[in-house]
Amino acid sequence: MADDEAGGEEYLFKVVLIGDSAVGKSNLLSRFARNEFDQNSKATIGVEFQTQAVEIDGKEVKAQIWDTAGQERFRAVTSAYYRGAVGALVVYDISRKTTFESVERWLNELTMHCDTAVAKMLVGNKCDLEDIRDVSIEDGKSLAEEKGLFFMETSALDATNVQEAFEVVIREIYNNVSRKVL
Ligand code: GDP
Ligand code: MG
Repeated sequence: MADDEAGGEEYLFKVVLIGDSAVGKSNLLSRFARNEFDQNSKATIGVEFQTQAVEIDGKEVKAQIWDTAGQERFRAVTSAYYRGAVGALVVYDISRKTTFESVERWLNELTMHCDTAVAKMLVGNKCDLEDIRDVSIEDGKSLAEEKGLFFMETSALDATNVQEAFEVVIREIYNNVSRKVL
């Protein structure tokens, strides 16, 4: 999706957030886009996507980041949600192993719906909950390696690695476009 404009090229990429309910997808997005955290999980309601610009190699690159708006609770994320996505953050909660075990299913669903190359980041969120950790960093890393994903642990609560996680994905998409993979 690169359009020529008078001032040069403009980029707008679709990135989707996926993962089990309550892993912190909506809060990762509100932390990234507005630097906000919402204890009461209201962030999920009604928000479809948010556009956020980052600077890469001196160029403004915009990402249209989609949030499931709670669809995932009913395992009913629609194909419209995935359509046109070139980046994905697959999120689990480091304090709940079941959410880690679901990662494979989310990856399969993503592959089923997207035929182009998708830049993927495995995100172990809530790394502030070290005391009740249920998934080791090593397990996260090795799954990411096995599946060919980037990997980071994040905390939407204390803003650890949130900016970084989104930026790595957006940069990889940008690189894919430059290499004409997309
Ligand atoms: P979603 O269903 O995946 O969109 O998850 P939400 O963003 O709605 O978050 C679910 C719950 O987890 C909410 O109560 C959040 O306050 C909480 N939460 C989200 N991110 C973090 C985090 O990084 N650390 C902690 N401790 N709690 C979080
Ligand atoms: Mg949500």
